[in-house]
Amino acid sequence: MAINSVRFSDLLQQKTASQHLSSSVAGGRIAQTYLFTGSESCGRLPAARAFAALLQCESPISGEDLALDACGSCDSCRRIAHGSHPDVSMITPNGREIRIDQVRALQETAVLKPSSGRWLIFILDPADRLNQSSANSLLKILEEAPSHVVFILLARETGALLPTVLSRSEIVRFASPSPAEIRDVLVEQRGLTHEAAARCCSLSEGRLGQALLLAQSVEPELSRPGLKYAHAEFLIELEAASRHWQEVFAAARSMDEALRLAARPFHEAYAPLLLGRKEFCRSLVMTASLPAAFPILFADMLIENLDNAAREMQKSFAPMLAEAKKAYPAAVIKEFEGVLDSLLGGWPGLQFEELLLCLLNWYSDALKAAAGADETLLLNLGRKEDIITIAEVDGVALLRARIELLENSVGLLRRHVQPVLIVENLITQIGGLEP
Ligand SMILES: [Zn+2]
Repeated sequence: MAINSVRFSDLLQQKTASQHLSSSVAGGRIAQTYLFTGSESCGRLPAARAFAALLQCESPISGEDLALDACGSCDSCRRIAHGSHPDVSMITPNGREIRIDQVRALQETAVLKPSSGRWLIFILDPADRLNQSSANSLLKILEEAPSHVVFILLARETGALLPTVLSRSEIVRFASPSPAEIRDVLVEQRGLTHEAAARCCSLSEGRLGQALLLAQSVEPELSRPGLKYAHAEFLIELEAASRHWQEVFAAARSMDEALRLAARPFHEAYAPLLLGRKEFCRSLVMTASLPAAFPILFADMLIENLDNAAREMQKSFAPMLAEAKKAYPAAVIKEFEGVLDSLLGGWPGLQFEELLLCLLNWYSDALKAAAGADETLLLNLGRKEDIITIAEVDGVALLRARIELLENSVGLLRRHVQPVLIVENLITQIGGLEP
């Protein structure tokens, strides 16, 4: 399968959604606004691309279990695969948000006639990043757009969007693939061994998109056992990840490219860090008792490490910024700095959330094991013995309490409670201090 395939039949998942979209095109029932809901790596974006391709395709074909599918080889399909179709636009956040100037630019394009295709298509990825003013501005466009315009909004859940936008949208739900489905894709489509598939699925924390990226490169090795090493290695890998991204940024040749690159740490996983985090969380979850000073020491080190890492990443843009100052007006430079600040400044928060998610997945697996669930439901299937140990030692009631604690911690983090307090409290509670 080509990475940028534009055919529904090449999508690895989401058969139901594909069939639904395909038959609405075949039946000529095209809504003006679609909302594709589901987690980031459930295949929303490839499906949006396939849908756009089918709408624009010069000679659609009928498939085995699809009413219609894009041909994948006409000029229009090839342009969509390369992201260069003049009538298919992607709108992605500029910094952390999709901003009002981006929506205004969309509005100017939406009143034009399609230049080559039949439809003018706008994909907003993700639409949950519209802010209040850009969402209101979008709503006006949805109300007034000519009938040849199709909007495809991608979002995690419907709750993140204005009710008035929701009521105008046809909602297409995308289920998250189960760990077993992810492992099957890796084995059957990517030729991985069952062990390698289990490792990639586990490191991706159950995200198909990330698991596929890991499948191309990762050769995880087990690090030394025990919390003493695992926490040090995790901190080392956080620094290494920051250096890795600094090297990526340093290779940028223009401001535009640099801005695109600055969003990558949020979307692409750096495999050694995933492994370091996985091992640290596993050791923490399996540790019966911690030295009393560990939670506060570790929380402090983690915060310092993350702040440094984010600062160093921002610093790596300094030469490019100095260069750009010669060529662009101050207002442009200021905007550029603002975007960098919001992206790279958000990196520590992202790392905290990932840490909480990783811990949560260990406990969720243990709870499944404690409840006697089928082992194919486990995310960290390759560490089945560890999961059974955690389940036996902690028991159902304690596991539930810990999952609740972690879910609450995610909520606190999103409400901007100081991460150092959250981490310290969390480790104190789950680590079990030495008497
Ligand atoms: Zn085609």
